[in-house]
Amino acid sequence: MAKEKSKTTLLKEELFYAPKNGRLKASEDVLAQTECFCEDYKKFLDMSKTERLAVRTSIELARQKGFCEFDPDKKYSAGDKIYFNNRNKAVIFAIIGSEPISNGVKIAAAHIDSPRLDLKPNPLYEDSELALFKTHYYGGIKKYQWTAIPLSLHGVFAKKDGTVLEVSLGENDDEPCFVVTDLLPHLAVEQSKRKLNEGIKGEELNILIGSHPFKDDSESELVKLNILNLLKEKYSITEADFLSAELEFVPTFKAKDIGFDRSMIGAYGHDDRVCAYPALMAVLNATNPKKTIVTILADKEEVGSDGNTGLNSAFLSYFIEDLSRAQNIPGYRVLRNSKCLSADVNAAFDPTFPDVAERKNAAMLNRGAVITKYTGSRGKSDTSDASAEYVGEIRTMLDKANITWQIGELGKVDAGGGGTVAKYIANLGVDVVDLGVPVLSMHSPFEVVAKFDVYMTYLTISEFYK
Ligand code: MN
Ligand code: MN
Repeated sequence: MAKEKSKTTLLKEELFYAPKNGRLKASEDVLAQTECFCEDYKKFLDMSKTERLAVRTSIELARQKGFCEFDPDKKYSAGDKIYFNNRNKAVIFAIIGSEPISNGVKIAAAHIDSPRLDLKPNPLYEDSELALFKTHYYGGIKKYQWTAIPLSLHGVFAKKDGTVLEVSLGENDDEPCFVVTDLLPHLAVEQSKRKLNEGIKGEELNILIGSHPFKDDSESELVKLNILNLLKEKYSITEADFLSAELEFVPTFKAKDIGFDRSMIGAYGHDDRVCAYPALMAVLNATNPKKTIVTILADKEEVGSDGNTGLNSAFLSYFIEDLSRAQNIPGYRVLRNSKCLSADVNAAFDPTFPDVAERKNAAMLNRGAVITKYTGSRGKSDTSDASAEYVGEIRTMLDKANITWQIGELGKVDAGGGGTVAKYIANLGVDVVDLGVPVLSMHSPFEVVAKFDVYMTYLTISEFYK
């Protein structure tokens, strides 16, 4: 027989807030569902390394579930499933609810762009019989992490004849990949004296793309010429076509289980596909929602959400406006009654770097989806800060549904900071709170999450949509 709990223990259990590892109390069923969900998530990751690829993969999955392209002039009724493709870089999925839209909609917003190396508009050059590309990094990266790892290429050339040519090279085992070279330690005496953030400088992130000269010994730049000749044969492009292209280099790694216990996933681009995928699956698997439910997968979050595919633009409010007009109500009145989960990652506590975190308010792996009441930096600057009432509503919902969750801040008050799309949606008059998955090595080429937290985030958004 178990020992009876003391009065002190019982009082502690009643009064203390003491979050625990969610795997301790999770049923075998939940752990099996976690495994199953994450297998599919890994496949999604491997197919969705850029925002364009994530849009394509998501739309393919949605079409299989009966989603059709949105027509603003069509009248939709309860249960209709639609998607709005914003320039192949951002996408909205929605199911029309049974309640009138004037009651507001439920939004889950995640982003599908991730830090990476973009090509400069005029990138190609030859130096010392090697051909290289100049890059301009996208998003907040620690530049030294992007050298000496295999990189693959994805993107488009918009050619002068009006065609858009898609390129993808490096993902398949039989394809070549690319690399940014770094200095050997033997000769890095001077480099080693640089500060870490200058260990590799922006103009040193040059990608090695060839070394074979065109067969002619009377001209210069023969390696570059040979590369352009290969590109002409394969893609029918010339050097000038780089001027109107979007070419992104991303790590070639596939998503892999991490640990002897396989409880985690290492991959490129968890931030923020680890929230985008649960938000996508939640709308795809929803049935007959009362309120209209809206999953947004946005672009440009990593560079501040500006631009016509980022959430600081009007594409979300115009979409709501279109839906509202069909029910003869102005969009702002729908937004005013709407609620949103801004689904984005938070930093997980890393025992190797405990100094930047404040333990009572740091997210831990395996403690479930993390609610982040506010982001920002230097005294809550640049954040929307969710209201106590709205956090209370979400907290009640989670506990009622028995979903494991935790609260988190992004590091110590003065350690730094960051932001999400939350404030852009809050600025439309919507109730918004951040909720997502804790990540180790965020913004690195190989980020780590716990499978359990991924599944809890899916359960959260699904519950929110009910
Ligand atoms: Mn993010
Ligand atoms: Mn990020």
